Amino acid sequence: MSTPKQIVLASRPKGTPTAANFRVEDAPMPQLPSGGLLLRVLYLSLDPYMRGRMDDAKSYAKPVEIGEVMQGESVCEVLASDRPGFAKGDIVTAFTGWRTHAAWAGGPLRQLDPKQGPITAALGVLGMPGFTAYSGLMIIGKPKAGETVVVAAASGPVGSLVGQLAKMAGARAVGIAGGPGKCRYVVDELHFDAAIDHRAPDFAAKLAASCPKGIDVYFENVGGVIWQAVLPLLNTYARVPVCGLIAQYNAAGPSDGANLLPRTMRTVLTRSLTIRGFINTEFGPEHYPAFLKIVSAGIGDGRIHYREDITDGLENAPAAFMGLLQGKNFGKALIRVAQ
Ligand code: NDP
Repeated sequence: MSTPKQIVLASRPKGTPTAANFRVEDAPMPQLPSGGLLLRVLYLSLDPYMRGRMDDAKSYAKPVEIGEVMQGESVCEVLASDRPGFAKGDIVTAFTGWRTHAAWAGGPLRQLDPKQGPITAALGVLGMPGFTAYSGLMIIGKPKAGETVVVAAASGPVGSLVGQLAKMAGARAVGIAGGPGKCRYVVDELHFDAAIDHRAPDFAAKLAASCPKGIDVYFENVGGVIWQAVLPLLNTYARVPVCGLIAQYNAAGPSDGANLLPRTMRTVLTRSLTIRGFINTEFGPEHYPAFLKIVSAGIGDGRIHYREDITDGLENAPAAFMGLLQGKNFGKALIRVAQ
């Protein structure tokens, strides 16, 4: 067996992360904990929230300390079990962090049935990003038939599901994505009604033309210049679930959007907007069965599609993660740690 490896936070980024902020280390083989599991990581999920954990700033979750293993969820094979109901060879999801092997002694754990579909979906469309899309859209956004729903990062795991669930609710779905290839995918394969490239010089005009009846639900994934283009198009009583602000995550100081506050507040007042931030974990497990049922059925009958962007090798996780923050991923970003 090859030596276990892990990736730690070597230093805190100033703005955009660089390779020097990460360090790949050999690690001792973990021992089976009493009542726990010994795990071999198969796939590691890369997610935008990890950027926030690299900063020493007050947030909804504790930062990763310097020298600590980077946090993250993964799909794992059970190598040994001291936990009733779990056996060697089982496949589970767990928060192992960026490492090849882990000892699980507590925390969220989900058993997967590989016969029911690809195990990687548990980190994307049928996992945390999928639940984020479902809960933010259905509980906060509440799209109705005939309304217009707009979402950015539309080819990714959150945005792609937001648009497809909006379509299933009878709404018109407009996606915003980076580049013509992603926009084609969003319309041709995800069946959104339109997709606009946020890098196009006339992006704001094109977005307005694609939303002739205005916007009723704007699912905020990005912030920055996209929010600037969306704001004037919001209808009276529009709902804005604020899920993420990825355009701002690498900002070292006040970001471009800061001076939009007076305009934003005026629109909130005059158009009776509901703007509601959320973290997916606030919606309790009582919502999970409905989410899994609706999304699994949608995948099964071809109404929901998803795409994965898989990079091989744990040592390539920092580069893939830095690419995610620049829109280089095309689909759910995953690291194949072992076959
Ligand atoms: P994605 O896999 O879609 O990856 C992020 C995408 O964001 C990139 O591919 C890129 O897409 C886009 N992007 C990156 N930088 C910029 C920028 N400067 N301007 C515009 N677009 C940019 O990510 P996820 O689907 O996993 O996450 C989407 C959002 O949801 C993120 O903001 C994330 O933080 C948030 N989130 C929030 C959760 C919550 O509980 N509130 C939970 C999970 C995710 P493109 O090339 O198309 O622009």
